Amino acid sequence: MRIGFIGLGNMGLPMASNLVKAGHHLVVFDVVEKLVQALVAQHPTQVSASPNIKSLAQGGDSSSQTNQALDAIITMVPEPQHVRSVYLGDAGVLANLAAACLLIDASTIDPQTAREVAQAAYEKGYSMVDAPVSGGTGGAQAGTLTFMVGGDEAAFEQAKPILQAMGKNIVHCGGNGNGQVAKVANNMLLAISMIGTAEAMSLGVSLGMDPKVLAGVINTSSGRCWSSDVYNPYPGVIDTAPSARGYTGGFGADLMLKDVGLATAAAKSVKQAVPMGALAQQLYQTFSNQGHGGLDFSAIIQMLGKAK
Ligand code: NAD
Repeated sequence: MRIGFIGLGNMGLPMASNLVKAGHHLVVFDVVEKLVQALVAQHPTQVSASPNIKSLAQGGDSSSQTNQALDAIITMVPEPQHVRSVYLGDAGVLANLAAACLLIDASTIDPQTAREVAQAAYEKGYSMVDAPVSGGTGGAQAGTLTFMVGGDEAAFEQAKPILQAMGKNIVHCGGNGNGQVAKVANNMLLAISMIGTAEAMSLGVSLGMDPKVLAGVINTSSGRCWSSDVYNPYPGVIDTAPSARGYTGGFGADLMLKDVGLATAAAKSVKQAVPMGALAQQLYQTFSNQGHGGLDFSAIIQMLGKAK
């Protein structure tokens, strides 16, 4: 297939590389020129650059004189405003597509924006899915991401083989926006469970327990959760967790703050109370304000307890 890819950052670059490995031809664009050039240099026969989004949507690239239509466009950009600017407006994807093309937004954004942009796509006759991911940069490199997909059945079936080149679990969550709903609900729960685990571990150790013994009890009892079992925030409990390497190389606290903020904003839009999510957001905001937003999100235990 000939696929357009917009946004070659920490996630987008390895995802695009996996599409190349699967044999697809890519036309790519990022506002950071050097990211584009690096990928083109690695795969000169399979990847070409577009000078801007308008040209990419028209199927143009720097290596060919004539435009060639794209089968799909994938976007992996940071925030809702970037998704809007890429798809909407005179210079955006929707205004400049010339032929049928499947649109896949893999960015993590709020469900409302995902639904608005998909609606605009359908009004112009294009199918679109939201397909946020979990699995982090490790999963993006290994091609083992989970994709939570929102869109109609036909669009999901069309997107599936493309997503399978980048991920292991491709889950249809329902109509447009529901991929984002699944993503923000899961990550809000993760933020809450991480803070709960950090509190419980800190309490137990402060009261004199060995952290490994305490984690062992929790993980065979009713308090067990992913945060306690796989990703325990107390240093030394799990060798493979970021807590064992100074809270580096995991899922950044600022990214968690972004996701839990999307969850509380989405909750407000439907008047759903999320008191624990709101408190988690405040705690991650405080942690970020203290200058720790670049640490793994499990480092929040340092703000709550006595973890060394
Ligand atoms: P990133 O900041 O590393 O990359 C985003 C890229 O998009 C950048 O290279 C930026 O230059 C580019 N970009 C921004 N606006 C653009 C525009 N208008 N046109 C073209 N390119 C543009 O971010 P990331 O870590 O790759 O994350 C991307 C998305 O994936 C985010 O929504 C994030 O929440 C989500 N996500 C990230 C992770 C993770 O572990 N990093 C995990 C799951 C989901």
